[in-house]
Parts: sequence; structure tokens; C-alpha cells
Amino acid sequence: MRTRFGAAALCAVTAFGCAGSAKQDRAAEMELRLIRSATTEITYGDGDGSVTLLVDPIVADQGTEEPIFFSNDKKIPMIPLPVDKHRLIGSIDAVLITHDHPDHFDKEAERILPKDTLIFCQPYDEEGLRKKGFTNLKVVVDEVSWRGIVISRFPASHYPGATGAPPFGESSSYLLRTKNDSMFITGDAILDEKLKASIEKSRPNVIVANTGECQFSKPNPVLAPGVTMTLTRGELKEMVQTWPGSTVVAVHMDAINHCVLTKSALRDAMAAEISAGRLLVPNEGEVAIPASVARP
Ligand SMILES: [Zn+2]
Repeated sequence: MRTRFGAAALCAVTAFGCAGSAKQDRAAEMELRLIRSATTEITYGDGDGSVTLLVDPIVADQGTEEPIFFSNDKKIPMIPLPVDKHRLIGSIDAVLITHDHPDHFDKEAERILPKDTLIFCQPYDEEGLRKKGFTNLKVVVDEVSWRGIVISRFPASHYPGATGAPPFGESSSYLLRTKNDSMFITGDAILDEKLKASIEKSRPNVIVANTGECQFSKPNPVLAPGVTMTLTRGELKEMVQTWPGSTVVAVHMDAINHCVLTKSALRDAMAAEISAGRLLVPNEGEVAIPASVARP
């Protein structure tokens, strides 16, 4: 049986303020907790009937995995995991891997995740995950339903002009829908026409936005240095302005060596959006949602 981590205790220390019975009621419906970088834990419901999905598990100890190519030489992750990795893995019902890159599914997750874990993935990654030994894959071609959650997939561009060809491969965004909630996860994507159309079609309550302004710094045959592969400050501002009905939660910062935008710099750049409750920049381990979400 799975064990919850104690959202109430976490809420007590979060910057977003979780006190209040109405917010606790909402917590029973959907809760989003940032673990680290793009790794988030999404829980629907409470108690024995709850369902928990772990997105993009990066569970390695600080500094124990090789850096992302063509950037600096810092080993990753660059910050510690705020929870016990075995307890985290033991508490979930399924995993969603937005795309199988080493900053979204690391070697340690591959090692400690039981091979029969239910994993939702994009079609492009099916073969690779099978080769890693995982036997319970649910490939999201367009849409799948699972325990009251409808998971829809949208092709995304990891960088301008992305073709889906190796070595990058394909990248996807996802929409998780329940009766009362909708959460859009950008995955690694730039704000091009593809992503705009996906969000416009989805009109979610919450957008989990992978930012960090990731980029290569060294000349290489794959992508020119300085070209961003995840959302920038400017793109986040545009998202907040374009979809006022969505609360944007910024993740994918501070842990991976090719991410140059820090949470601290983002908070400085978007103080107005944060104080208006339109943008959340949670710390590792913090529950971001439901604290500031106003549902219709
Ligand atoms: Zn990434």
C-alpha cells in the first residue's frame, strides 16, 4: 500500500501558504509537488483511493551522474534530492516519462525503479525503455485513460526547427485531465506555434512549464551554442499573458548543468507575475498546487 508524504506538513513550510479549509479541500482533488528539476509528484484524491503519478524521475544523489554534453563539466544533479528516493519510488502508482533524456529519466531511476512499474511514455521512447528492461509500458499515442485520469499527448519542439531525428529524438507535452482539473505539462519545449496550439486547445487550470533556458555552451555538431531548448523568461511571460486562466508553475531549474536560468533569477525577473499569483516558482520538495489555484 502506498504512503502519502504528508502534504499538510509540507504546506506548513511552503512559501505559498496552504492553510485554510477550502485549500485543504482542494488538496483532496489534485496536488502537485516539485521534487527536483522536472521531477514532480502529482496526486489525485486522498487516502486509499488516491492515485500518484511521478513525472520524469531524476533520483540520483547529488553529483553522481555525468554532465549533459557540450556544456560545463559539473556532474549532475547539482542539488540534493529533498526526499528519500526509495520511499518516493515506493509511494507512486505510475511514472510518466515526457521524453527519455538523461535529465528526465536518469541512470539511478532506471536502476531502482521496479521493472514492472507502469510507465506512460511517448511512442518514440518505447523501444529504448523496453531495452532498459521495463515491461509495463503504456504508450501514449494520442490519449489514454487510467484510473479516472485522461492523459493526452501533443508533439513538441525541443528547440527551434526540431525534427525529432536523433540524437535529440522526439519531445512531447501532455495534458492530464480529470473531472475537476486539468494540468498541462510542457515537457521540454519551446513556445512555438505547436506548443501554443496545444495549450490553446487544452485551456488547462495549471501549466507545468519546463524552463531553465537550457542550452549548450560549446561548439558541437548537434545544436548551436546559446540556442535554448526549454522555456525562457520571455516565453514564460508570454504564457502568463496569453493564458490568464492558467496558473503557471515553473520547474526544470538549478539541478542540471546545461540549465542557465536559476529559480532566484526567475523570481527577480517575474516578481510582478509571482505576486499576482499567476506564476509559481516552488522550491524542491514544496507543494505548489493547490496553494494558489483558483478553480472556476
Ligand atoms: Zn530537460
